[in-house]
Amino acid sequence: MTENYDLAVVGGGILGLAHALAAARSGRRVVVFERDARANGASVRMSGLVTVAGHAAGGATRRAKRSRDVWAEVCSQAGLRIEHEGLSIVARRAEAATALEAYAATEPAPGCAFYRPDDAHALFPQFRGDIAGVFWSPDEIRVEAKSALPKIAAWLEDTHDVAFRWETAVTAIEGDVLRTSRGPVSAQAVVVCPGDDFRTLYGERLAAAGLTRAKSQMLRVRYEEGFELPGAVATDLSVPRMPGLEGLDGVEALRARLEAEQPEHIQHGVVMLASQSADGSLVVGSSRTLEATPDPFQSQAIDDLILEELAAVFGKRPKQILSRWTGTYAFSVDRPLFVEAPEDNVRVVIAGAGAGASAAFAIGEDVVADLFKAG
Ligand SMILES: Cc1cc2nc3c(=O)[nH]c(=O)nc-3n(C[C@H](O)[C@H](O)[C@H](O)COP(=O)(O)OP(=O)(O)OC[C@H]3O[C@@H](n4cnc5c(N)ncnc54)[C@H](O)[C@@H]3O)c2cc1C
Repeated sequence: MTENYDLAVVGGGILGLAHALAAARSGRRVVVFERDARANGASVRMSGLVTVAGHAAGGATRRAKRSRDVWAEVCSQAGLRIEHEGLSIVARRAEAATALEAYAATEPAPGCAFYRPDDAHALFPQFRGDIAGVFWSPDEIRVEAKSALPKIAAWLEDTHDVAFRWETAVTAIEGDVLRTSRGPVSAQAVVVCPGDDFRTLYGERLAAAGLTRAKSQMLRVRYEEGFELPGAVATDLSVPRMPGLEGLDGVEALRARLEAEQPEHIQHGVVMLASQSADGSLVVGSSRTLEATPDPFQSQAIDDLILEELAAVFGKRPKQILSRWTGTYAFSVDRPLFVEAPEDNVRVVIAGAGAGASAAFAIGEDVVADLFKAG
């Protein structure tokens, strides 16, 4: 007999789990299909920072704030540790300070502050050398992505009765029947969250969507015993990438200076985002290179660019590199969020920027509400 569900979710990454949670919370019977034995895509390779500051005003900021609140609930209910809270962006140049100070005063950034150099050094003694100020947002939380995903899946299964079909690829969706590598399953509605696989399901449609793949390099490093971050830490390099800061004074001038002064960082899409784990080690990234099929190789030269920016902020390089990895995610120049309805009962949901985990839970709520609005 064919199994029957209200919602089938394709993809066991964070976007898939977020849709499963939203549907289960509204009383629906949900099944999640993941072709791997456990989530192994972008969602377990990411920095684990749930960002709020810097999203575009309007829908993106609303989603970021709502999603952050659901992340906090999920952490407490599923037994995930919040590794730390808050984000500081160290302005190494006056132009970055101008932009960040202006952003801290905008409506989407309540609770954020900008500290001029003297106050910044007093509040954040970890940051060394010449700095033009520090932007602080209290809202970010960081989770340990690698362990968070299996814990959320187990909690969904135990507490919300979500069924998981691991090592099961979905090969086609025909009406309310999903063809899978382990036989057919039927579901009233389907959400496809394929991460950066644009070819298996609805390949023709996705080929026209202008999506590509971004490859990122990451490292886990260690400073001396007792070294402690004040929350997540980023620098000037992140500022021109933040949609919420677009158009603010200082941003264009900063972009031009970064291109002149750190051309290799810009060429390889390097930003520096450091966050800390329970054992004191830091997760540090990242780079961004765009290609239809990214190569699997970790470049030492790119790792050095990331480490150089880390050392510029903390005045020293880490004592040890504990591990290195790469990850890939879907990327679109102009569509940070891709929601398509190839059929009335199907949605394809792809986060087309490097911060899809942050907004995942709000995206899941919106899509599930839309899918079941008639019922
Ligand atoms: C190095 C790195 C750092 C990042 N840091 C951050 C960060 O700090 N904060 C943040 O918000 N975002 C971050 N991101 C981005 C974020 O990780 C992604 O936007 C997000 O994880 C995407 O989730 P997803 O569920 O769509 O994709 P994925 O996690 O890639 O999951 C997709 C899943 O679908 C499965 N699948 C695909 N097709 C099928 C099929 N036909 N049948 C069955 N299963 C299928 C795949 O096996 C995969 O497990 C980072 C990304 C990387 C790579």
